[in-house]
Amino acid sequence: MLSFAVALVAVVPAFLPGHPLLQGLSALLGLVPITAALTAVWRRYQRLTGDLRASHAAFRTIVKSSVDPVVIVGGDLRITFASPAIASLLDVDPGSLSGLPLVDAIHPDDRAGLFGSLSAPPGEGGEFAVRTARVRTRDGQWRLVQATVRDLRADPEIAALVLYCRDVTARGRGVDPELLELSLADPVTGLPNRTALSRRLAAVQRQVATHPVALALLSIDGLASATSRPGSEETVLRVLTSRLTRELRGEDWLARGKDGDFVVLVDGTVSDAEVVATRLITTLGYVATPAGPLTATAGVTGLAPDIDPGEALRRADLALSSARAAGVGSVHRYDDALRIAQDRRSTLAVDLAGALARGELRLAFQPVVDVVMHRTVSVEALLRWRHPELGDVSPQEFVPLAEESPLITELGRWVLFEACETVARRTDDELSVAVNVSARQIRSGELVTDVVAALEASGLPATRLIVEITESMLLDAHVAGDLETLRELGVRVALDDFGTGWSSLAYLVGMPVDVLKMDQHFLADVETVPQRRALCRAVLQLGASLGLPVIVEGVTTPGELRLIRDMGHRYVQGYAFSRPLEVDQLAAGAWRTVPELAVATSPEVTA
Ligand code: C2E
Ligand code: MG
Ligand code: MG
Repeated sequence: MLSFAVALVAVVPAFLPGHPLLQGLSALLGLVPITAALTAVWRRYQRLTGDLRASHAAFRTIVKSSVDPVVIVGGDLRITFASPAIASLLDVDPGSLSGLPLVDAIHPDDRAGLFGSLSAPPGEGGEFAVRTARVRTRDGQWRLVQATVRDLRADPEIAALVLYCRDVTARGRGVDPELLELSLADPVTGLPNRTALSRRLAAVQRQVATHPVALALLSIDGLASATSRPGSEETVLRVLTSRLTRELRGEDWLARGKDGDFVVLVDGTVSDAEVVATRLITTLGYVATPAGPLTATAGVTGLAPDIDPGEALRRADLALSSARAAGVGSVHRYDDALRIAQDRRSTLAVDLAGALARGELRLAFQPVVDVVMHRTVSVEALLRWRHPELGDVSPQEFVPLAEESPLITELGRWVLFEACETVARRTDDELSVAVNVSARQIRSGELVTDVVAALEASGLPATRLIVEITESMLLDAHVAGDLETLRELGVRVALDDFGTGWSSLAYLVGMPVDVLKMDQHFLADVETVPQRRALCRAVLQLGASLGLPVIVEGVTTPGELRLIRDMGHRYVQGYAFSRPLEVDQLAAGAWRTVPELAVATSPEVTA
């Protein structure tokens, strides 16, 4: 810069007219502003190069003082710098690594996973990536090292890849010779895989008596839809892995669990694990995918000396199931009540398999009333189970259990036959019967055959059978086809729990549905809260606008009944008229007449 200024001083006088002295003077005067400007430029240049040197120095200082080893790799994937902390990890002199190809230190089986992302052009692999690989120590053994890779190749001041390394070899056991044989990293995210997790858990468990460690199990929702485009799954998983990694504290340890879950070994108590899990769920909300931001749910549990790793994972899993039931974004911690509930579910699932053969199942029938004509138009068949030890078990508890196995098809078939036969034999010629059909049953493809067989065996006309389904089932084109076939036979289709699956509302137009049953939760607080009343009215209007009759379910009090009638609605099912009836009560026929004053008088009419 200074030599450029000298050159200018030599050249400029040649262009000035007049006396040589004047020329020289004016040249000097004219040069003052130019030189001042040049000096300023020169100072700025000095400051910038100083800044650059300072930022390099600051960068090196930060890197050097880092407790975790840091390795800097140039564009040719040769090591340009290794921080002093590498010495304790690999037992090598950090200076001796400069210039060596990184690949030489990596286990052959792990090279593809590590270099796949490192050799991608800058930016493509994401600014951060997490990779786990076995790295050779000086005496030829292997350590499992997890590196958070910062791609700064596009940064002119650094122009390198920076690998922040952590030793994730199972601690307290020395070097495990089996590491040579096993692949311990998840190929997509680069995180330790389930095998590595089990090893780490086993090692950590021996220390938890003196140092608390907890487990957080994170299940990411919507990954399937977020990654439906080919190749997008890996990208999303990598982005979310780097997000999660950035949120972790020093000793927290992230791995891949079963079914694509993420597992964090949290350095701290179960309360710390809750905080970490909540933070991770929040951060996932910032990961945008084509299907929207990601959501997650978590289960946490503490590790203890007397709990083996498998049991710890089962506990976290139980907590996760409980969190899932509570809704997206929940974080639940394991407690013994969850185990008791799980044990009950297991007992019920086993016992349900033989319940039918042992005669423990029966049907109850709840009237649906036409409040204009004051008569019962149909009855809904509701499954009942009296367990020999546990007593009455709600269908809300055991039907979902049956749905988890092919048992639901057998139960559903029995309900169809039993319902058709009961109504055909024990009631008048007018009454219809509604049967609930589960998703699995309808997807089995046997519904049409079962319905036809039940109608034939009982002699019930098809026009007196109603099949109750839920909104989500309509999304399956195959199911819609089966329902259409049933309607051609004369069977009616009712949409149960209407209003709870808003997403498919527009979809309902033109669907094979004859009746809507408004879900009972729309009746909550309608008597006291005007907004709830408005919501209920809106749902009923939506139903009516689809041109279909609406049955209002769960009308429990006379007040609710009055409101529903005042809104102009005709079909009602609920305790306000009748609880579900046993078969002999149905045969007795007391339900047939609906007292006109039932609407006005308060006492619940129970049969
Ligand atoms: P759902 O089909 O919506 O049945 C209505 C539920 O509301 C029944 O519960 C009924 O007893 C209850 N209910 C009726 N009136 C009132 C009322 O005024 N107030 C209140 N609070 N509740 C009322 P239930 O019998 O416990 O059945 C629960 C669910 O279990 C049913 O909901 C249905 O989804 C399922 N379910 C019952 N039987 C069967 C079956 O045979 N097959 C299948 N797949 N599912 C069934
Ligand atoms: Mg129903
Ligand atoms: Mg319902």
